[in-house]
Amino acid sequence: MTNAAFLAKLPAQKPDSLLDLIKKYASDPRSHKIDLGVGVYRDENGLTPVMAAVKDAEHFLWETQGTKSYIGPEGDRDFLEALATEVFGERRNAKVLAGVQTPGGTAALRLGAELLAQDRTRRIWIGTPTWANHHSIFATVGLEIKTYRFFDNQRQKILLDEMLSTLGEASPGDAVLLHASCHNPTGAALSQDDWAEIASVISRRGLLPFFDNAYQGLGNGFVQDAAGMMVVLAAVEEAIVAVSCSKSFSLYRERTGAAYLFGKSEADVNLGLANLAAHARASYSMPPAHGAAIVAAILRDEQRRKLWIDELARMRKRVTGIRKVFAESLASFLPQLSLVRSQEGMFSLLPLTQETVRGLRDNNGIYMPDSGRVNVAGLRIEQAGFVASVLGPHLVSSA
Ligand code: PLP
Repeated sequence: MTNAAFLAKLPAQKPDSLLDLIKKYASDPRSHKIDLGVGVYRDENGLTPVMAAVKDAEHFLWETQGTKSYIGPEGDRDFLEALATEVFGERRNAKVLAGVQTPGGTAALRLGAELLAQDRTRRIWIGTPTWANHHSIFATVGLEIKTYRFFDNQRQKILLDEMLSTLGEASPGDAVLLHASCHNPTGAALSQDDWAEIASVISRRGLLPFFDNAYQGLGNGFVQDAAGMMVVLAAVEEAIVAVSCSKSFSLYRERTGAAYLFGKSEADVNLGLANLAAHARASYSMPPAHGAAIVAAILRDEQRRKLWIDELARMRKRVTGIRKVFAESLASFLPQLSLVRSQEGMFSLLPLTQETVRGLRDNNGIYMPDSGRVNVAGLRIEQAGFVASVLGPHLVSSA
C-alpha cells in the first residue's frame, strides 16, 4: 500500500492575484514603473516607513520588556483595553464589550466568522464589491454568503436604496458585514444619514452587524472614521467588530489586531469571548505579542500618542491632497470621477476593463489589480495628473 496519493489529490490553488501582482512589479526592470496595486500606505518617497511613535515604543519595549513568556489565547489585556478606548471612545461605556487580540484584522474576521459558523443556520450578507479576502474568510468556515450590491462603479455612487431594500429582506439573526470607513476597494463614504438608515434596517430586521474596521484614521480623522459605526452600535444589542492595526499604526507585518464583541450583559460577552479564545487556541494558539505591546505603549503614553496622531494626520492629508489633483484630472475625461475627491482612505475603483488594466501594466508600467482598484496613496502628488492623463482615454464611459 502506498500513502503517496494524499498531496497529489489536493485541489490546485489559483495564485493570489494581488500577491502575483506584487511579484510582477518587483521583477519589472523599468525605472518609471508605478505601483498602485498593493494596499499599503506610501509616503512622498514611495516608502512605507515605520512610524516615529512605533520606533519610540520599540525603543521603550527594548529597555523595559522583561519576558517573552506566553501571553494566552486572549492576548494582551492592556492593549485590548487601550485600543477599545481609542476606537470606540467614550461611548463604549454605554455598552458591554470584550475582545481578544488577534494576528491582524484578518484573524479577527476569521475568529468572528468561526463564532457565527457555530450556529449553522446563520448567514452573512456581504456588499459587492468588497475586499477579495472577505469571501474566502466566510466561505472557509462554511457560512452561507449572501450579497447586497453596494457600489455602481460607472456612476461612482453608493447604491444605498438597493442595499437597504436587500437587507430589508434578510432573515432575523443574519449577520451583515460592513466596512467601518475607507471602503476597500471603492473609497465610497456613507454619510451619517446613510448610516442612520442602515442602523434602522439592521435593528428592524434583528440583524447582527459585523464591522471590518481596517483603516480608521486614514479617512477623515480617527474619531470621525468610527462615527458611522457608532450610530449602528447604538441601535443594536449585539455586534462584532474586527479591528486591524496594520494601516492605522503602519504595523502590517507585526500582525496586530483585535476582535471585539458587544453584548447585552457581562455574562453574554464573556461567553462570546471564551468561544473566540477557544477558536484561537485551536488555530494559532496565541497572538504574536510585539505589535500589540507597541500599540499599548503608544496609547498609554500621551507624548507617544500625540506623535502617532500627528503622523496619522499627515498621512491622511497627503492622501487627501493626491485625491484632489487626481480627481480633477480624471474628471476632465469622465465628469463623475470628480467624486474620487470625496472618497476616503487609500482606494478608489475606476471604470477600467481588465484588458485595459493589463495593457497599462505592460505598456506603461502602471500596476493595479484587474478590478481597476487604485491605491491613491501609491502615487506621488506630482505623478497624479500624469497618471490620470494616461488612464483617462481608457475610462469606460457607459455601463
Ligand atoms: N479588511 C480590509 C478591508 C483590508 O483591506 C485588510 C487588509 O488589506 C484587512 C481587513 C486585514 O488586514 P490585516 O490582516 O493585514 O490586519
